[in-house]
Amino acid sequence: MRADQLSTQQYREGIISGSTVILGRAITLIESQLDSDRAQAEELLESLLPLTGKSVRIAVSGVPGVGKSTFIESFGKYLTSQNHKVAVLAVDPTSMKSRGSILGDKTRMEDLSKDPNAFVRPTATGGHLGGVAHKTRETILLCEAAGYDVIIIETVGVGQSEISVRSMVDFVLLLMLAGAGDELQGIKKGIIEIADGIAINKADGDNIANAKRAQAELSHALHLLSSEAPKVITCSGVTKTGLDEIWKMIAAFKDQREKDGRWLDTRNEQLKQWTAESVNNIMEQQLKEYLRTRASSVNEYPPAAAKRLWQNFLSQLK
Ligand code: GDP
Repeated sequence: MRADQLSTQQYREGIISGSTVILGRAITLIESQLDSDRAQAEELLESLLPLTGKSVRIAVSGVPGVGKSTFIESFGKYLTSQNHKVAVLAVDPTSMKSRGSILGDKTRMEDLSKDPNAFVRPTATGGHLGGVAHKTRETILLCEAAGYDVIIIETVGVGQSEISVRSMVDFVLLLMLAGAGDELQGIKKGIIEIADGIAINKADGDNIANAKRAQAELSHALHLLSSEAPKVITCSGVTKTGLDEIWKMIAAFKDQREKDGRWLDTRNEQLKQWTAESVNNIMEQQLKEYLRTRASSVNEYPPAAAKRLWQNFLSQLK
């Protein structure tokens, strides 16, 4: 054990007592690729599991520039003012090549970071899952054990990242801009599959009327497609309008789903998926290791070699 290393018990106690320093270090631990760290991370997560699951997990998604970080900062402040404890897993702009130069000098969510009832963790996504960090699920559990009751996960883009994050959260809030209407035509169905709620952002100043119009149009179009279409609201991260309405929308969604049983069904389904993914990872890793030491003969027909190797691999499993 390194001199500065904490024991699992020290991590556990630090997290439960609300130390953000130890929470931050624990997240670093679970993100580590070292075998010894992985073992400790697993032990820590298992020991904290009974303390998890009680938060509302929200993904805030949208294309770069739509106003996610501004919105999350305002929304986070609104929630802490309502006595919530908010953890934000934010995108680290320096990890996104195309934007690093624009935002590299700007500290995102500075005010919220200073709020004693908020914890902001910028995560380097490194392109993994199109914007969702590698250990997001584990990080959510750590934050819950630390007592955060609202977890916000910032997700960039429209597409793969939302689909990935969907399996980790209770509610996906999609931020959009007025005037993007034409581009929307093709993806309306996709939006319904991805989002539980939509906020037309930057509804401030001269843009209010535009935003309201976009809201009405989108709302109408989505309801034609599905009776359970996501609600569409307007908001502004700058003037802080619509935040209350968004929180009420999420609370109503939770209420409804708790009543009809789908809240827990979804969580259970997500755990099953996580387990299946973990089995896949183990299998892939072991198979890779097995194949590394067994180069097949160049004269063998590859699909036949594959069958032979697969059978051999299976027979050597315990
Ligand atoms: P992100 O890339 O989605 O995180 O977007 P940012 O929060 O960094 O915002 C991108 C740009 O839009 C910045 O110049 C912000 O100042 C601006 N912006 C963000 N939110 C709003 C808003 O609610 N209203 C207006 N008018 N501008 C905003």
